[in-house]
Amino acid sequence: MVRDSELRYLRRCVELATEALDAGDEPFGSVLVAGDGTVLAEDRNRVADGDRTRHPEFELARWSAAHLTPEERAAATVYTSGEHCPMCAAAHAWVGLGRIVYIVSSVQLSALLAELGVPAPPVRTLPVRDIAPDVAVEGPVQELVDEVRQLHRRHRTGSSDGA
Ligand SMILES: [Zn+2]
Repeated sequence: MVRDSELRYLRRCVELATEALDAGDEPFGSVLVAGDGTVLAEDRNRVADGDRTRHPEFELARWSAAHLTPEERAAATVYTSGEHCPMCAAAHAWVGLGRIVYIVSSVQLSALLAELGVPAPPVRTLPVRDIAPDVAVEGPVQELVDEVRQLHRRHRTGSSDGA
């Protein structure tokens, strides 16, 4: 279960996603938090320059491999505005990170993008559980879903209203 005290990390993910959007990148943001609640690292999507692998969850997985012990990685949680894609879920599991908490699920995001007429991505959208069955995953976090949806709508249409 997502505790109230964890919402601040998720709100930070929304801020990072907003930063990404304002910079011309896709609106995704993620925060890596230690077992004791300390924020260790954070990042946002950076694909606008042409490298489509610059997802924040991928960066955090590689950061954790470089900076944390296996025990620290296992105790850490990655909070993220959107559920990990298969690439990031695989990286998360390969480096042995702990729990994932996402705001919007892949299923929710795919439905929204389809509704907005966005072409399907080159990688199939699968839930984290299908890629990394041993990773504890929680989400969606309903109280923040609409905010994240609005960011994606703004990214694709330039407008945040439901039109
Ligand atoms: Zn990804």
